[in-house]
Amino acid sequence: MPSQRDTCLFCDIVRAGTYVNKAKGFVAINDINPQAKVHLLIIPERHVDTFRDVSEFPAKESKRMLDFVAETAREVGLTDYRVVVNVGPSAGQTVFHLHWHVLGGDQMSERLPAGAATAEAEL
Ligand code: AMP
Ligand code: ZN
Repeated sequence: MPSQRDTCLFCDIVRAGTYVNKAKGFVAINDINPQAKVHLLIIPERHVDTFRDVSEFPAKESKRMLDFVAETAREVGLTDYRVVVNVGPSAGQTVFHLHWHVLGGDQMSERLPAGAATAEAEL
């Protein structure tokens, strides 16, 4: 049976080696379907399915991952930006390898979009 790494799109991307930024254990790439002028994905080399499992990262690695998010935003010239992690299908997660969206370069909408249940409740 193949391991998850063998069948995971983001594990393949990590292996492919075309990055916007790279640090030990982490890469940043451009999102293929950008939702803002700048839309980066920060991807750890370590495969965990979702942010729910972030405790699988050693503490130092978690800290370095957050530092890499901020460092990458800074290096592409962003001062104001939004960092998003979709956790699970109902929250919009489509690739099941933990990743952080960094969105910026435009004036962002003031609020995050409401979820369907919330939107219905507001009607
Ligand atoms: P999520 O929906 O939070 O799981 O985010 C997955 C993101 O990966 C989406 O924004 C997609 O546009 C992006 N994506 C999917 N395939 C690729 C790819 N081959 N290269 C870059 N980004 C991708
Ligand atoms: Zn993976």
